[in-house]
Amino acid sequence: MASRQFFVGGNFKMNGTIDSIKGIVKHLNEAKVDSNTEVVIAPPALYLPLTREHLRPGIEVAAQNVFDKPNGAFTGEISVEQLRDSNVTWTLLGHSERRVILQESNEFVGRKTKNAIDGGVGVILCCGETLEQREANQTIDVVTAQLKAVAETVKDWSKIVVAYEPVWAIGTGKVATTEQAQEVHAAIRSWMVKELGQGPADKTRIIYGGSVSEKNCKDLAKEKDIDGFLVGGASLKPAFVDIINARA
Ligand code: PGA
Repeated sequence: MASRQFFVGGNFKMNGTIDSIKGIVKHLNEAKVDSNTEVVIAPPALYLPLTREHLRPGIEVAAQNVFDKPNGAFTGEISVEQLRDSNVTWTLLGHSERRVILQESNEFVGRKTKNAIDGGVGVILCCGETLEQREANQTIDVVTAQLKAVAETVKDWSKIVVAYEPVWAIGTGKVATTEQAQEVHAAIRSWMVKELGQGPADKTRIIYGGSVSEKNCKDLAKEKDIDGFLVGGASLKPAFVDIINARA
């Protein structure tokens, strides 16, 4: 098995204030974090420069979204160049809250991913099925269709981390079982072998998201295709450090 560096992302979503984000950053700066884990935090866009300024080197900062065009008349959007200009080296894309609430299509997520990768910004590419889709046995089809829309435009996946996040597990406290998560991660890896080749399939991190906590992270981290986590609610709490250290 190829060794893939463990990756833990913190998705603050639309939470936080200048004071609370400074507090989270201070806690991370002072914490003992596993040096084998790559850590990236994604505060709201407004606080990206503040976070980058205060956060210690070695922990990276991600946007929660970025547009698919280089610049211009796109009110309310943020460009890849602006992220780079602010030393923001990663972005989330395709989070289910954007796919579901803001109706982002697979193709739009594909175009945004291409634009970010071409512009030198790494992408935490989120995918995942709703409860209805899982109950209709469509999980693998839904997830691979989401990934295929990216594979159609992006050939180099070396700066993509795939985050499998079942929609029914996000913010619900209902975590996928280790078997459920591993099953989908393994299916994603097989899909990668077919679509991207063995090399990229071995190297690409597939992380799990959806009600990850300090209590369930250690068991999930033992699964062979789970290469880290994307953490929402718990990334705002001191216990985020325990999740970063899940494999330590
Ligand atoms: P949660 O969110 O950890 O609060 O379930 C995960 C996510 O949406 O990335």
